[in-house]
Amino acid sequence: MQVAVFSTKPYDRRFLREAGAAHEFRWVEARLDSHTARLAEGCDAACLFVNDRADAPALAALGAGGVRLLALRSAGFNHVDLAAAAAAGIAVGRVPAYSPEAVAEHAVALILALNRRIHRAYARVREGNFALDGLLGFDLHGRTVGVIGTGQIGTAFARIMAGFGCRLLGHDPQENPACLALGLQYVPLEELLAGSDIVSLHCPLLPATRHLIDDAALACMKPGAMLVNTSRGAILDTRAVIGALKSGRLGHLALDVYEEEERLFFEDLSATVIDDDVFARLLTFPNVLITGHQGFFTAEAMRAIAATTVANLDTFAATGRPLHPVG
Ligand code: NAD
Repeated sequence: MQVAVFSTKPYDRRFLREAGAAHEFRWVEARLDSHTARLAEGCDAACLFVNDRADAPALAALGAGGVRLLALRSAGFNHVDLAAAAAAGIAVGRVPAYSPEAVAEHAVALILALNRRIHRAYARVREGNFALDGLLGFDLHGRTVGVIGTGQIGTAFARIMAGFGCRLLGHDPQENPACLALGLQYVPLEELLAGSDIVSLHCPLLPATRHLIDDAALACMKPGAMLVNTSRGAILDTRAVIGALKSGRLGHLALDVYEEEERLFFEDLSATVIDDDVFARLLTFPNVLITGHQGFFTAEAMRAIAATTVANLDTFAATGRPLHPVG
């Protein structure tokens, strides 16, 4: 099949090539939207990443150009209008699991760095400043960690935090036996927020979870607690979070995702003026640590994403359905 790979980066080429696909890839650096969709004209499939926008106009244009499959290089599919895909006659396949540990370990890396101010200490030591003022952290051992969404990533995260000697609270419409076995206690959301020193988000972005962490939720949190989001930006109401940081109610914030990230992340904008004032405000807080959606970015995860993407393409070519369909 001919496959237009949108949002291609050098690492996407490398891992898709290494997956040994029998398909012909058209590398498209642009993100998918209604204007760039025509770059897939004549292709059987379009391969998308998290900030490609597969809305109704883009899907109609892809369908008109001959695309019959969207092969997502992600687990999340909140960026795809599934009804519009069905209407355009386009099947959707995703990578349901690649390396939950990759994202869970990144969440833990953010917690450790933010708590012990590693990012600030690194810069200080390079300047010959060995003062410890401002670097005071807290022991993770004995702290309570709230896990919102106890699926694959939430479970991997809970397992690591249990290893630190943390007490675990969880909130999820479905209880997971693997988490119960770790000693995690399922509680209502308000109880989790009120009882946790660290709250980590691992639920998908759905209509029900959009702005799950809003003013009311932040008001429930323990004063000075840490909030970690490696899931999807819009699960947090960023303006409400900024308010809680300004008032001192929220003690620490670690983000790997951001509501408006498609205008920023995955590009080198270091010589550009960033016109997103909300994001710029976040960057001014000393107790905020942000990475640019790199939770998934390990060699193991990239290999698994490429292999499953190729499996979706192979199965679609043989049967007309991807191996891991969405919807
Ligand atoms: P998963 O489907 O295994 O688990 C998600 C869990 O969230 C499920 O147990 C589900 O029941 C639960 N959930 C659904 N609605 C909820 C709600 N209202 N409140 C609490 N829990 C709820 O998914 P996963 O593989 O663990 O991935 C979780 C999310 O992580 C993905 O949806 C994606 O948004 C994000 N993610 C981020 C990166 C990254 O690089 N930062 C990479 C992969 C995935």
